[in-house]
Order: sequence, then C-alpha cells, then structure tokens
Amino acid sequence: TKAEKVNLREVIEEAIKLAILQAQKSNISFSKKLMDAYIKGDKNALIQLFINLILNAIEAIENKGKITIKIVPLKREGNVKVVIKDTGKGIPEEIMDKIFEPFFTTKEKGTGLGLAVSYRIVQDHGGKMLVNSKEGEGTEFILIFPTYNEEE
Ligand code: ADP
Ligand code: MG
Repeated sequence: TKAEKVNLREVIEEAIKLAILQAQKSNISFSKKLMDAYIKGDKNALIQLFINLILNAIEAIENKGKITIKIVPLKREGNVKVVIKDTGKGIPEEIMDKIFEPFFTTKEKGTGLGLAVSYRIVQDHGGKMLVNSKEGEGTEFILIFPTYNEEE
C-alpha cells in the first residue's frame, strides 16, 4: 500500500463531497470541526474508509438528522483522533461484537463489507477504531491514527 503524506482534513472533505447528494436526499446535514492533520498512508483508501462510515451513518439516520465529523489532535501521544457521529437509530448491544465481521449486515440489501474493509484500512495505517452507540440516540466511531513523522 501507498505511504504518502496525507492530510486527513482533505480526505474527509473529499469523502463528504462524494456523499453529500445522498445525504441531502435524506435531509441530513454535516457539521465539521476539522483542522490540518497529517498521517502516513494511502489517500484513496482513507477516502474509502470515510465514505463507508458516512454511508452507514446516512443509512442509520434514514430521514432527517446530523452527521458530525471532527478532528482532535492528541499531540502528547503523537496521535490524531477522528470522531464521526450520527443521530441515527443506533446499534443494538447484541450485535456490537459482530459489526466488524465480513458479511454481517442487518440490511436487506447490505453487503456487510463496509466496516470489515474500514477496519482493515485503519489497521493498515497503524490505527485503532472504536465504537460507542446507544439505540434510539446515535452512534459514534472513533478513529485514532499515529501522526506523520518526518523522520520515519
Ligand atoms: P452494511 O452497511 O452493508 O450492512 P457494514 O459492514 O457497513 O455493512 O455495517 C454492518 C452493520 O453494522 C450494518 O448492517 C448495521 O447494522 C451496523 N452499522 C454500521 N454502522 C452503523 C451506524 N452508523 N449506525 C447504526 N448501525 C450501524
Ligand atoms: Mg455499510
């Protein structure tokens, strides 16, 4: 895989651009709190990762809601955190441990691959992915990546 210097702000802006029409059809707005944050990796793979998460958020909201995406620098640890949060229906406790499995889906026409692929992309970038969710309230995915280091 590629290992170029990638700005997560640009990655997220591009992913939103690709999903915005789909979101508008469902009366979903985006709230962004972004800043420049550099990691080492494959820009196209990272765009794919955020598209997967945004499309899942859109599908979880169904109609009318908000998707919040923010970048939070964790300077002391040399990491950057990205939070993508939706006001969708949430994930039932009983399926929480299955959502990252390939082919697990609760959707009639789902492939169940979005999160499995996303997890893999995060791992390939040395990162971590966590999820918090409450049924009826929403879901947030938290991604942690090591920041770009000029010396490496
Ligand atoms: P698919 O979208 O094809 O179902 P994914 O791997 O992207 O496959 O997601 C797996 C399952 O995880 C979904 O079917 C859904 O039940 C759950 N899920 C993923 N993201 C969200 C979300 N943001 N809100 C609620 N449920 C979600
Ligand atoms: Mg999906």
